[in-house]
This record gives sequence, structure tokens and C-alpha cells, in this order.
Amino acid sequence: MQKTPFLSKEQAQDIIKDIPTPFHIYDEKGIRENCRRLYKAFSWNKGFKEYFAVKATPNPYLLTILKEEGCGVDCSSLTELVMSEACGFKGSDIMFSSNVTPEEDMKKAYELGAYINLDDINFVPFIERVTGVPETICCRYNPGGTFELAASRTGVQVMDNPGEAKYGMSEDQMADAFTQLKKDGAKHFGIHAFLASNTVSNEYYAELASILFQLAVRLRDRCGVHISFINLSGGIGVDYRPEEPTNDIMIIGDLVRRKYEEILVPEGMDDVAIFTELGRYMMAPYGALIATCLHTKHIYKDYIGLDACAANLMRPAMYGSYHHITVLGKENDPCTFKYDVTGGLCENNDKFAVDRMLPEILPDDLIYIHDTGAHGFSMGYNYNGKLRSAEVLLKEDGSHQLIRRAETMDDYFATFDFSPYRFNTK
Ligand SMILES: *Cc1c(COP(=O)(O)O)cnc(C)c1O
Repeated sequence: MQKTPFLSKEQAQDIIKDIPTPFHIYDEKGIRENCRRLYKAFSWNKGFKEYFAVKATPNPYLLTILKEEGCGVDCSSLTELVMSEACGFKGSDIMFSSNVTPEEDMKKAYELGAYINLDDINFVPFIERVTGVPETICCRYNPGGTFELAASRTGVQVMDNPGEAKYGMSEDQMADAFTQLKKDGAKHFGIHAFLASNTVSNEYYAELASILFQLAVRLRDRCGVHISFINLSGGIGVDYRPEEPTNDIMIIGDLVRRKYEEILVPEGMDDVAIFTELGRYMMAPYGALIATCLHTKHIYKDYIGLDACAANLMRPAMYGSYHHITVLGKENDPCTFKYDVTGGLCENNDKFAVDRMLPEILPDDLIYIHDTGAHGFSMGYNYNGKLRSAEVLLKEDGSHQLIRRAETMDDYFATFDFSPYRFNTK
């Protein structure tokens, strides 16, 4: 599908009067409409709830929008729990899906009454010792091997490698964990698994659901436990590339419903709630990184140098990920120039795009990097003394709000104690 910015050049220029580039901007209207579609797609399931994966976009203003739309949060660290608590999430609004969990994180999750998702069989004695076992508890499943979904209608193949993933436990371990947790007083059980990331196939969730629903029946029979929810976690992807298919959440919801009716209902398990822990799908398309072209350079190739760099958006440098680029105001110009679009890190992988066909770019042009609303700002870092950018909300009425100011050098220096030295950073 053609990729269209949610922000015009005029809107961007207006924002830049208050907030210099680079910044990430989020589209409130898009976020809300997408949430409503998701809830509609799963409205057939009484207990359905989306727990937004906080790590994707940890900003209290955005979490609050999601909360207003009925979402909970999925946390994996103490900091994420504390942020969620500050936004008013508590108890069954919170899923705690962590791994290599420190004691203090587990204690906080327990204290908040979160649904705790145990990543390993060793966390059974751990939680017994650290907090005691809550009445509702979840365990994370890893089937091992490879996960493969035959090429679907859209011709997209989904493949991932759970056998190489550090998460979750085997079926026998799940059974041992449930049996022990039941002895410890747990009454309601959840099952969770995350088998493939950024899938652009409507069939992924149904395939995962089928695996987990069958596992739920076996675990109920084997351990005599009540399965109260199944968490399909994250993994529904977005079309970063214009030529990629777009997931249809209504179809996804309906395919999961069919598996539910095929596998769980005949077993009398028609009270199982479906949970999701989507990050990317909830936010990626509704965020963009806005940058300004600082310099152009023409040597053996043609380079566009931006005021943003991989420290603001790491995915291209880290995974070679594609992010679509639009030059604001040149949306309809022909793409006749081939550029590497770079940041200013002293790292040659600091490139947002390599050999990308774009309209001619000149200094001061405004560059819109698409789909940065998830795993964008949040993966930022401070290499080369680069400071984290601002985050801005484009509100439904078209106005904008600063929802996180840009870092300053004072922030960067704040963790040093300069007092014994003569240095002065001011
Ligand atoms: C990262 C993560 C998610 C969200 O994944 P997306 O690909 O952003 O949907 C959900 N659950 C867990 C446990 C995760 O680690």
C-alpha cells in the first residue's frame, strides 16, 4: 500500500517553531482508531484484553490514551511497572512478562497485583520464596524447534526459531509448574507464548492460538487446573515496506475465533479469556521520526546527512530494517535520486536507508521517517554524546503537545559527580 505521512509539511513547519527537529511524533487519532478496531475484532471473546507492550513506546501520555481505549499494559521491568502504576494501571490491568527477573521486580509486580507470567520452571521456587504464589498465575510456553507457517494467501511465509529462543518452558515443565503452583494455592492459570515477530500474515495468530488452545486442553487434563486466560502476546506486524501486505485485524480476530470454537468450546472451556500483548501493531504506524537534512555529500555515492541518527532510531542499524522515507512537501515528486540517508554517528551503519530512490533532497528539507511509533524512541541511546530527542503528540484536533522534552547536556552529565574535579560542563 502507498505510504502516506500523517503530517503535512505545513504542520511540521508549525511544530518546528516550538520544537526543533529531530523528534518523534505520534498520531492520537490513528492510535485510538486502531485500538477500537482491535477490540471490535475480538469482541466475540468476553474477557478479551490488550496489554500494550510498554517497552515498545514507554511514554505516560501514550499509555494513558491506550488506557482510555480499554488497554492494559505488559511490563517487563521494575521501571515499566512504576511508570504504569503512575499512569493508574493496577491489578489485572498489568501483565508482567519478564525474563531473568530480579527479586525487586517480582516483588513490585506482586504488590501491584499484576498477572505474573513465569518464564521458567525455576521461577516457581523463586516466587514461592520471594512473594508467595498469587491466586492467578501464568506460565510462558516454548515449543522448541522451528515455527513455520506455510506461504499464505498473501504469499508471505512466517518463520521463526523458538528452539533458539531463551524464553519460556517446555510442555513437561509447564505441567510440573502448574502442578506445583496449584499445590501452592494458585486457582487460575494463564498460558503465554510468543513464537514469531513482526508477522505480516493474517494466519499467524490463529496458528499460535491453535497450538496454545490444544496445549491448554492437555494441561487442564494433566494437572486438573482451571485455565482462565490465554495470552497470544505480540508479533502481529506492520507493513514497513509499501509492497508488503497489510494485516487485517478483523480477519485475524475471526480466524482466532474459529480455532476457539473448534478446540476450546467442545472441551467446555468457553470461559477462557484471550489476551494480547501487542506493541508494534498498536503503535508503529502511528509514530514518525521528523528530521532535517543538515548536509548533502557527493563522493563515490550520494549521501543525505540528517540531524537524527541511529541513536534516535536504531532498527535500520541494528536489524537492517526498512523504514519508508518521505520528503515532506515533495510527496509527489519523482524518485529519481539514489541516496544513502545517514545520521552523524561515527559508525558506518548509521544509515536510515541505503541506495534509496527519493526526490532530490537539499539542506533544510524535512524528512519524515515512517513507522517509528514502536521500538523507535525506546531503543534510543547516547552513543557519540547524542541526546535523546523530544516526543510530540499530534492530537485529534490537529494541535500538538510536547509529551517528552528533548534531553539536554545536563541530563547527559547528570550521572557524573563532577565535584572532585575542576571540569565545568556549564
Ligand atoms: C516485545 C514483546 C511484546 C510485543 O511485541 P511486538 O512485536 O511489539 O508486538 C509482547 N510480549 C512480550 C513478552 C515481548 O517481549
